[in-house]
Amino acid sequence: MGKRSVKSAAAPKKTAGQSMPAPAADMSHPAAKALAAQVLPIVPAPTMFGSLDRVEGDTLERIREDLGDCTRCRLHEQRNKIVFGAGSPKAELVFVGEGPGRDEDMQGFPFVGRAGKLLTQMIEAMGLTREDVYICNVVKCRPPENRKPEDDEVATCSPYLYRQLDVIAPKAIVCLGGTAAQALLQTKDSISRFRGNWFDYRNTKLMATYHPAYLLRNPAAKADVWKDLQKVMAHLGLKVKKASR
Ligand code: URA
Repeated sequence: MGKRSVKSAAAPKKTAGQSMPAPAADMSHPAAKALAAQVLPIVPAPTMFGSLDRVEGDTLERIREDLGDCTRCRLHEQRNKIVFGAGSPKAELVFVGEGPGRDEDMQGFPFVGRAGKLLTQMIEAMGLTREDVYICNVVKCRPPENRKPEDDEVATCSPYLYRQLDVIAPKAIVCLGGTAAQALLQTKDSISRFRGNWFDYRNTKLMATYHPAYLLRNPAAKADVWKDLQKVMAHLGLKVKKASR
């Protein structure tokens, strides 16, 4: 495809004319809140992948081939299947979760368990289908006992996610939960600090919202997620309608 030229991921993104707080800034300040309604530029912290370049002519097939029968981190030891991602390679919207759970590990597809059913309902409430979007995770192998992926596991796996996002070049990325948002925004801040606001990820608008697994435990948070998804729908030019609960 090669839609984008080689460009360093390390370069901080700037939004014209805006000088706004990075996620670590005091978001309780009224000015910060007002600005948070717009696109916030992220100034990435230095990372070992700061020098990751876009791969010219990259494709999802090539990324999957490069991943191979991966043994780059300890997560391979107990995995059943690598969960690469699923959906349209031309999707305008990409959902990024944390990592496969038990059902995903068995089937090799993302978000096919209980949380996945809820994600499907969320996608359909937006007037889309799973085939319209692309769904993937930060780590592609199931962490044992569904624990959070460790920093080194995220660091090892996330370059493949970056490449997937570069190839698909969506109009919007929705991070499902803190792990995805932290991996893409290169922050350690809690999701509650930046949920519902637009951020810039390598010139693509990124919104973080709660993970569907969290919603299964805290159904009251669905209203917040629906507000976030409505912002995404507006950005994609989708007709905003009332969600069925
Ligand atoms: N949770 C995730 O973060 N990803 C999946 O694929 C399934 C559950």
